[in-house]
Amino acid sequence: MHQDAEYWNPEFELLDREAIETLQLQRLKETLERCDRSPFYKEWFQKAGFDPASIASLADIARLPLMDKATLRNTDPTSFLTVGMEDIVRMHSSSGTSGQATVIFHTAGDINTWSNMVARCIYMAGVRRSDVFQNMMGYGLFTGGLGLHYAAERIGAMVIPAGSGNSKRQIQLMMEFNTTVIHIIPSYALYLLEVFKEMGVDPRRDTHLRIAVLGAEPHTEGLRSRVQEAYGLEAFNCYGLSEMSGPGVAFECPEKKGLHVWEDYYLLEVVDPVTMQTVEEGEEGELVFTSLCREGMPLLRYRTRDLASTYAGDCACGRSHRRISRIKGRSDDMFIVKGVNIFPMQVEKILLAALGIGSNYRIILDTIESKDEMRVLVEVSGEMWHGEVNELNRLKAGIAEELRREILISPVIELVEPGSLSQTEGKAVRVTDKRNQARRD
Ligand code: ADP
Ligand code: ZN
Repeated sequence: MHQDAEYWNPEFELLDREAIETLQLQRLKETLERCDRSPFYKEWFQKAGFDPASIASLADIARLPLMDKATLRNTDPTSFLTVGMEDIVRMHSSSGTSGQATVIFHTAGDINTWSNMVARCIYMAGVRRSDVFQNMMGYGLFTGGLGLHYAAERIGAMVIPAGSGNSKRQIQLMMEFNTTVIHIIPSYALYLLEVFKEMGVDPRRDTHLRIAVLGAEPHTEGLRSRVQEAYGLEAFNCYGLSEMSGPGVAFECPEKKGLHVWEDYYLLEVVDPVTMQTVEEGEEGELVFTSLCREGMPLLRYRTRDLASTYAGDCACGRSHRRISRIKGRSDDMFIVKGVNIFPMQVEKILLAALGIGSNYRIILDTIESKDEMRVLVEVSGEMWHGEVNELNRLKAGIAEELRREILISPVIELVEPGSLSQTEGKAVRVTDKRNQARRD
């Protein structure tokens, strides 16, 4: 039924602003009503002196306190449930990037809603039933694998549930079964290019790849271009978090001017992370979400720590759902060197713009003679590594200069052999901070 249509859910994707907000208010009221049945929320509302029946407008949500990973970590997850445990059909957890992983429970309805939402995302990117969808994300507690798996099946594509890692096998699968779409962690997509080279396979020439869904970690426009160019495909940015079900909360449309947040499923607030006040349209802030359709374990005003800004105005694709920018990183990703605040993505932006750079980099922070030291280890391309020393020196000087301009300090740059930095199968670890360790010793 959907195959020739331009939109997966036109009845929701094309709603005008007023209709979206009316729907949001209705769903918010229903969510709050449900929450009132959960032991956690009963107490949460009482403590805040909040009457869930008193909500008259979307802005009223600001009368509720914010919650974050600590709220989830300090609470028995079953106490959030608004249904009986017998109605829960699945649990997932976060990846544990910033500490203890948090748990989310889903009803059959929740899984259905989430699958539809992700189907909407990849349909928007152009995935159709004739596609072969190689899902190269971890299956299991991590939401990346199963989240996209069900969505691609719902569209009717053939899914290859390849999971993460096993790089050579991944490439063999792509070749043998004519994979057209990959779902892959961006840092791993870069790494895989080295394995393609090793196997003597050119992804542009020797595969049928046409779409990549890149998600689960921050990445720059430069990284996206690199992947598009090397693989000969179109890459789409997919944002999500386990606390809001998983991938697909926001996704790029073909206009590539931001990621549409599905506002029929989520209420988005963008707040100043210090004052907690809503920021102006276009200003950077922390994303805060309230789930509007989750039955089992709704979360209200959840602080993501993810920093982004919204775009003003309508999108040429016809969808009225608000758009957010690429995520700059989590507020906890920021590190301070010699009094300067730095995000890993600022470094990535410079590195990936330089010609001759390989597929991986690492930032090492240390204390040398009681002073901060920042080192940037960068893999260079095979040609560069085996080429002229002068070229290597020129590359190093160029990166040093550009980095100084971007982050205002001069880190030590070390160009290293391709493949020499360790590669994770999951989210990349970009920064190793040895400074606290040194202080403790
Ligand atoms: P954890 O929070 O432990 O990493 P999750 O697996 O739930 O566990 O990951 C969600 C987080 O991953 C988001 O809050 C965000 O920081 C990051 N993330 C997911 N998708 C993207 C993306 N497309 N761009 C930037 N960051 C992303
Ligand atoms: Zn759009």
